[in-house]
Amino acid sequence: MIELRGVSKNYNGEVVIPRLDLTIPPGKTTVLIGPSGCGKSTLLRLMIGLVRPDSGTITIAGTELTPATEREVRRGLGYVTQDGGLFPHLTARGNVILLARYLGWDEPRIQARLRELTELARFPTDGLDRYPAQLSGGQRQRASLMRALMLDPRVILLDEPMGALDPMVRAELQADLRAVFRSWEKTVVMVTHDLAEAGWFGDEILLLRSGRIVQRGAFSALLDQPAEPFVTQFVNAQRLVHELTYGGAE
Ligand code: ADP
Repeated sequence: MIELRGVSKNYNGEVVIPRLDLTIPPGKTTVLIGPSGCGKSTLLRLMIGLVRPDSGTITIAGTELTPATEREVRRGLGYVTQDGGLFPHLTARGNVILLARYLGWDEPRIQARLRELTELARFPTDGLDRYPAQLSGGQRQRASLMRALMLDPRVILLDEPMGALDPMVRAELQADLRAVFRSWEKTVVMVTHDLAEAGWFGDEILLLRSGRIVQRGAFSALLDQPAEPFVTQFVNAQRLVHELTYGGAE
């Protein structure tokens, strides 16, 4: 569904992604994980055409991302960022339906889709007329997800979508999101720095270090068959964070 061939990216002479080949399969959830600064967000932004590679090609569902195609390709992609990225001057409803209206959908179709998404994302209907600043963090992310899904994209890209939420809200949203992705069989690429979250969502997990894929596979393989010592270091560091946060292992 997503194919990167020989993709590299530098910022100010510093290599962030050194020549990467990567294929993301359709209908599955692929999680990108790794330490802060390893290039996870950059990879996602390359996939949606917000960042252009210095070399290589990126193909989404058979269409290569180029300045001529990126607008069209982007319509087939949903994108949710850590802060939701909602327009502050539009209500939740205004944000969700913006693009459909721009594309000339008729009103009954817009309303039907909005109803469907409100239910799916378990968004409170009385929140639709509130502005982002009047919504809770969890509601903002639900609205952002609805906006990303409005045009029924084939691919959803999520950049730390729960990174700014407190643990209770986060757990609730994690459960709801996984149910959405499983039932719709969408191609999902999610960035997180949280190993438990990666295990919860990922059909497949890609552990990155300095823009390089260190290990790719099932969550259990990261624990049981680490490809190199860094994998174990990363897993152990996460365990420590988890114990400090939640007060000890089980
Ligand atoms: P991650 O998502 O894994 O935390 P990022 O992809 O955000 O990592 O960043 C990877 C590296 O690229 C970091 O060193 C970051 O400082 C750098 N970087 C990212 N975006 C930019 C940018 N727009 N300009 C300059 N440097 C950037």
